[in-house]
Amino acid sequence: MTAVEHHRSPRTTPSSTPVDAIGGIVETVRAAYASGVTRPLAWRVSTLRRLRALLVEREPELLAALAADLGKPAIEAWVTEIAFCLNEIDHTLAHLPGWTKAVRVATPVTFQPGSSRIVPEPLGVVCVIAPWNYPLQLLVAPLAAAVAAGNAVVAKPSELAPATADALESLLGALNEPAIATVLGGVPESTELLRQRFDHLFYTGNATVGRVVMRAAAEHLTPVTLELGGKSPAIVSRHAKLDVAAKRIAWGRFLNAGQTCIAPDHVLVEREVHDELVRLLVAAVAELYGPDPRSSPDYARIVSDAHVQRLQNLLGDGTTVCGGAVDEADRYIAPTILTGIGRGDACMAEEIFGPILPVLAVDSLADAVAIVNDGDTPLALYVFSERDAEVDQVVGGTSSGGVTVNGTLLHIANPNLPFGGVGPSGTGAYHGRTGFDRLSHRRAVHTRSTRLDPDLLYPPYTATKQKLLRRGMMLPDPREMPARLLASVRSRRTSRG
Ligand code: NAD
Repeated sequence: MTAVEHHRSPRTTPSSTPVDAIGGIVETVRAAYASGVTRPLAWRVSTLRRLRALLVEREPELLAALAADLGKPAIEAWVTEIAFCLNEIDHTLAHLPGWTKAVRVATPVTFQPGSSRIVPEPLGVVCVIAPWNYPLQLLVAPLAAAVAAGNAVVAKPSELAPATADALESLLGALNEPAIATVLGGVPESTELLRQRFDHLFYTGNATVGRVVMRAAAEHLTPVTLELGGKSPAIVSRHAKLDVAAKRIAWGRFLNAGQTCIAPDHVLVEREVHDELVRLLVAAVAELYGPDPRSSPDYARIVSDAHVQRLQNLLGDGTTVCGGAVDEADRYIAPTILTGIGRGDACMAEEIFGPILPVLAVDSLADAVAIVNDGDTPLALYVFSERDAEVDQVVGGTSSGGVTVNGTLLHIANPNLPFGGVGPSGTGAYHGRTGFDRLSHRRAVHTRSTRLDPDLLYPPYTATKQKLLRRGMMLPDPREMPARLLASVRSRRTSRG
């Protein structure tokens, strides 16, 4: 079955949890957490294994739901949603026994005899609120991290991907775990959900709602992770391998019809290779999606009529060198490349989040860096060059949540790399160990021996005690001694002038 046929299937009406049931659902999950069931490593491992098995078992219905919601081509949906989560879970299962171990740290001699360790413990009940663009991955991956860290979870899929939301509710229900619940719905349900007290709010979506989430969190002093978006640039040097750059940018931009938070949003290319890059980008689109992308089984659809309207309004500026076609009834927008765009044009004002790629010429890489630094810190940044010094210039001169050099998107898929934004593109990161740490509390545990009780710290503070304390109070780990001695010699020299 092609993406187009999938897409024409009737849309699912969003399901919603009765608003007055939400408080009770959160209470039940909290009671399960309080019972201690989620803490043992055995529960975490078995829950992750069952989650994994359900993702495999239910692959056909999950792929059908993703096709119904977004016209996602099956292989694209499998790679970016299901396999992504399987990898994340497998990586977690392989490392979890190590991550959950307490870590011994040195104890200053003044506090001897004694020992110190850092013990990772769960935060409590984590609320995961997911968006519609990768509706499975962006719910399941944070949920898996929360479970790995021993938390209970209330998960809220996006109502804009209603078929996937239903499939996820059913899948999580099949875990049959009182510590894991799903709440469905849109703004009224989310608003009620956010009134509840959680121990962490993990939100992925746009920054406007991110602010709503952060305000709600402030009421309960709940920590948040905000996975937001922004305008992620692809910077192309005249020393780039232009054909490779064009294909990788086109793939990153038009995957999921451009509805990817880390998609290259626009291209900043050195003027002397602008025309050649544009020519290669147009060729890459034809290679990826054929002469008529509408009939390609490998090209997705826009999530809603409202988003089709929004994107259509961005098509008026500059010159359309490729694409531009819109079929509202099919929620189709062709892979589109625009040139002659100014920084004041509509498509440069906000994150595009659709299959439109403006290509802007810049005089130099320094200009590209200045343009990036003039805007909000992006979620992702891509730089294409065969010269290390140029890559260093761009990466060192800017900031972003993550970077792929000479490629797009792929830094998200390595579980050894943290994934998240910075400033306006997000707060906090996850994936692999980073996700486990994000949803754990690193508890400090210092254990004193009762064999000896040196009275150095107790009053009365005699002159001898003061002298000893000043000399040895924080006498540290022997490994720190050389640096400490050097610093004290230096400071004595400086004070002598
Ligand atoms: P969306 O409309 O599905 O909203 C996300 C979630 O917020 C949904 O579950 C929705 O029900 C909930 N929500 C909406 N209004 C709310 C309110 N008033 N109060 C509480 N909750 C509310 O998705 P979206 O925001 O359109 O997602 C697109 C944005 O997300 C883009 O900016 C994109 O870049 C960003 N994004 C970021 C990442 C990332 O990992 N950093 C991933 C995907 C998308």
